[in-house]
Amino acid sequence: MNAEEKIIRIAVDGPSGAGKSTIAKAVAARLGIDYIDTGAMYRAVGYKMINEGISVSDKDEVRLRDMLARTDIDFSGGSIILDGKIINDCIRTPEVSKMASDCSALPMVREKLVELQKNMAKSKSVIMDGRDIGTNVIKDAEYKFFMTASAEERAARRYKELAEKGDQSSYEQVLCDIKKRDENDSTRKLNPLRQADDAVLLDTTGMSIDEVVNHILAEVKE
Ligand code: C5P
Repeated sequence: MNAEEKIIRIAVDGPSGAGKSTIAKAVAARLGIDYIDTGAMYRAVGYKMINEGISVSDKDEVRLRDMLARTDIDFSGGSIILDGKIINDCIRTPEVSKMASDCSALPMVREKLVELQKNMAKSKSVIMDGRDIGTNVIKDAEYKFFMTASAEERAARRYKELAEKGDQSSYEQVLCDIKKRDENDSTRKLNPLRQADDAVLLDTTGMSIDEVVNHILAEVKE
């Protein structure tokens, strides 16, 4: 992109399993801009906490602070890199999903990751997805979308994804986890999940990936 081209930042928020990352990745490819998956960043921290045996309780506060100080998270070629290692395949398990959701309520974790995210979106065009992008990380984003779908449809999509990877979780278990995470994400004190006043609402229930991608591209190209 040359210096005269306008920078565009697209914020995509919404609950778990709404299809944000699939859609955002496709939009990024069509527009030739970077895609930043902020959920993967909370997953990376959750994954490292599990590996180091750090819990979300107050008793581990000092260990968590020390761990965060020596944590480096970056994206390269569509992969998430934690401390120099690609961890794409390690962060999508139900255990890491739960830890990501739990640790995302900790002020220390949010502070570190929000700062990293703000820097990533500073001087280049990006599409960033998460829970608080339009309301907190890039408040002045040129385009904001709030993507959702019924809990049942989101659970069905996640169940299919997990089953394809050989995970044994039942549909009922996945639905229950999704509802629990919705509750955690929207009721936490710090940067809860909510639609920004200036975000376009996209209910993807019954919509194909192409339909949603084209809808976003139409808005952006306008
Ligand atoms: O989007 P994904 O399901 O991968 O995100 C994992 C967890 O990270 C979510 O359940 C949510 O609690 C947290 N998260 C967040 N803020 C973001 C992105 C994700 O709190 N911007």
